Amino acid sequence: MKFQYLGTAAAEGWPAVFCRCEACEEAARRGGKNIRTRSQALVNDDLLLDLPPDTYLHKLQQGLDLSAVAHLVITHWHMDHFYPQELTIRGGCYSHNMKSTDLHIYCGADAKEFFDSGVAWEMEKELAEHLHWHVLTAFQPVEAGPYRITPLPAHHMLERPGSTPFFYLIEETKEGGKSVLYCHDTGHFSEEVWDYLSRYGKAVDLISFDCTGGPVKNGPNSGHMGYDDNLLMREKLRETGICGPDTVCVVNHFSHNGKMLHEELCETLEPLGFQVSWDGMTLDL
Ligand SMILES: [Zn+2]
Ligand SMILES: [Zn+2]
Ligand SMILES: [Zn+2]
Repeated sequence: MKFQYLGTAAAEGWPAVFCRCEACEEAARRGGKNIRTRSQALVNDDLLLDLPPDTYLHKLQQGLDLSAVAHLVITHWHMDHFYPQELTIRGGCYSHNMKSTDLHIYCGADAKEFFDSGVAWEMEKELAEHLHWHVLTAFQPVEAGPYRITPLPAHHMLERPGSTPFFYLIEETKEGGKSVLYCHDTGHFSEEVWDYLSRYGKAVDLISFDCTGGPVKNGPNSGHMGYDDNLLMREKLRETGICGPDTVCVVNHFSHNGKMLHEELCETLEPLGFQVSWDGMTLDL
């Protein structure tokens, strides 16, 4: 499995859109891996995790063929993860010679409602017919082409009770296929998630941890994590067997409010067994 981080920042980006803080100015000065766009990842060439407003920039920066994406998995509808207006130009006179004319979209009920109420009116009928929506239920895996996708309830969108944000277990179903636990955006896992994971019974190949706060300890009441929380979660994931000796652990989705730049994050976290994501980082699992 090829796993490519297209964007690695929290909602505001880093340097943030409207910000003049020291961490943003330093990121701009240093450039390189310190320039972080809104979070998104690509599995092989055909499964896209989230659709942020920076999707188009990712195509330009990283030379992607997004017409090959046949499966779009949405974590939740915070603006840095779901900009559904982009779908109004997928097909018809806007997109020719596409590799996959059809797109399967997997999401929670409220992300679909967001699309229906805010965007559906703008979709041309001919384009809408090529979007196949799969509204997911927590803990119920779905088959998605060569993948199995299991939605797990995220501790997130706390400002909006009744929301259905998910994080995901994604497995290639072929013989010897690889698997990823993609934990964005979420705070500490709930008891029911731990119950489910402890029954899973095998190690995954990659765990991508929400590290929005960097050195800021978020604790169990937050909808995000910092690296102290990641250490705690990884310990428990080891106990359940999901995190094995060969599991690659990556920290990702950084906010400027954590203030630690890429080089400092690497210095602190690599000795602890975490890789620090950057825009364009590609893992061959
Ligand atoms: Zn986010
Ligand atoms: Zn800033
Ligand atoms: Zn979010």
